[in-house]
Amino acid sequence: MIINFLKKVFLIDLLQGLSVTLKYQFTHKVTIQYPEKVKESRERFRGILRVYRDGEGKQLCIACKICQKACPEDCFDIEGQKNTEDNKMRPVKFDWKLYRCSFCGLCQEACPTDAIKLSKEFRMATRDKSKLFFTLDQMYSDYDLNKHFRGESKK
Ligand code: SF4
Ligand code: SF4
Repeated sequence: MIINFLKKVFLIDLLQGLSVTLKYQFTHKVTIQYPEKVKESRERFRGILRVYRDGEGKQLCIACKICQKACPEDCFDIEGQKNTEDNKMRPVKFDWKLYRCSFCGLCQEACPTDAIKLSKEFRMATRDKSKLFFTLDQMYSDYDLNKHFRGESKK
């Protein structure tokens, strides 16, 4: 009884609560100011599939369609044509359905030229289903996914 009375008089409960708040002011923060700041994904995270060029900017994809055959979800529709410059097959059509993808990684494992890789990009929420369908130009790693999904170019 007396203890409760003294606690109320000296605002002990309030001070205890404030001490917890004060303690967390000086500890490492686990939350971030999303979407202004974006946390880096884990090493093995599988995000949106991208198509890559070599160090000189030349296409790595030879339109062999092995990824298309390996995909269990029927995500790809690839067509190739012989390039007259280097006499190699190159894709002229590379449609990819993100809305079907299960991020299994079988396509990137099957690719003989390392032309495709599942990126770290996880931000793919949209109300527009057409944005979950990618064409060849949109598949390249330098295509701006921020603009694609969020209509802005900030990272
Ligand atoms: S990650 Fe799997 S489901 Fe997605 S495109 Fe590649 S093979 Fe198909
Ligand atoms: S991405 Fe790789 S597996 Fe798919 S068509 Fe191109 S070279 Fe072949």
